[in-house]
Amino acid sequence: MGIKIENYAEGFKYVSLALDEQTKKDLIEDELDFIFLDKKELFLFPSRIKLEINADGICELLHHNNYDVYEIWPDGRMYLRYDTTSVDNYFFVTGKCNSNCIMCPSPDYTRKNGDETNIENLITLAKHIPSDSPHLTITGGEPFLSGEDIFKFIFLLREKFHKTECLFLTNGRIFALDKYAKMLRDSIPNNSILAIPIHASTAELHDRITQTKGSFSQTILGIKRLLRYGIRIEIRIVVSKVNCEDINNLAEFIIREIPQVEYISVIAMEMTGNAFKNKDRLWIPYKEAFYYASDAINKLINNGIDVKLYNFPLCTVDPSCWMICERSISPNKVRYSENCDGCNYKQSCGGVFAGTINIERDELKAII
Ligand code: SF4
Repeated sequence: MGIKIENYAEGFKYVSLALDEQTKKDLIEDELDFIFLDKKELFLFPSRIKLEINADGICELLHHNNYDVYEIWPDGRMYLRYDTTSVDNYFFVTGKCNSNCIMCPSPDYTRKNGDETNIENLITLAKHIPSDSPHLTITGGEPFLSGEDIFKFIFLLREKFHKTECLFLTNGRIFALDKYAKMLRDSIPNNSILAIPIHASTAELHDRITQTKGSFSQTILGIKRLLRYGIRIEIRIVVSKVNCEDINNLAEFIIREIPQVEYISVIAMEMTGNAFKNKDRLWIPYKEAFYYASDAINKLINNGIDVKLYNFPLCTVDPSCWMICERSISPNKVRYSENCDGCNYKQSCGGVFAGTINIERDELKAII
């Protein structure tokens, strides 16, 4: 929920939140812009301007924490951009993408016209985030479409976040160019991994899914270059009606061509954006998706490659694979059906996406 400052006239800003004197002192020492809530009055520092917000806004700030980071817009609206209690914080680089995957949870409009975050703003945001942050995701769209300037931002992440796990979500195509692979090698933080989707074992099928000719060969070449430079790679396989019969071949391709990858994530779809638009071509029930992926999962594990299952509710997966199921859906998107109420495993189950619950509500069956 956004907060509105009534008398704001300072332009776009990132600010940290201070709720006590010690945090205020630390933020002054760090020379960061911040807001300080002092006995229900809000001040902007370092200028010490008194900000006018209503009682609901004060109440919301009191429910947040020291070192949370907000973005303030020129019209005074304020949005939370970093939550110190969450492991789901992210940098959104751009909504644009050079592929157009039929099962993308973003809509076509965003891919073509999506918002972009200025690289200097990403750098400023990163300066506000505490250096002991456990996990940060760098995402888009395709974040590497923003050009070479992104490496300045990535380099800052390396300088500041020594222990943070950094996850880069990318289609990997840009790294077919050796220049970009080298720039990433020279700037990437130590504890980083790139998550790159491969949709099929052949260029024909992969490119049909990305709706982009040449994308398969660029992605595979990019992955090979990054592996050669010692960069850790997670391969993502999103299972749909279009590629389910090829998953086994894809596992064999990975074992043969790129066995050095860190692990494989087999992923059930999020039915929003393009995925929802193409629902009739794409959707298969969770159990069917798991059935088609089973042999591939065993094959990969037997060849020493770790596998994780993302977005699969436990009741749709064979119990022998529960230990590789991740609770991968963000808390604000996760839903359970009324059938889940009596389920003994609800606490361990990652549920389903809000955008998918109405499609497969009846497939969920309480485990008792
Ligand atoms: S019934 Fe609901 S809580 Fe139980 S495993 Fe299925 S989706 Fe998860």
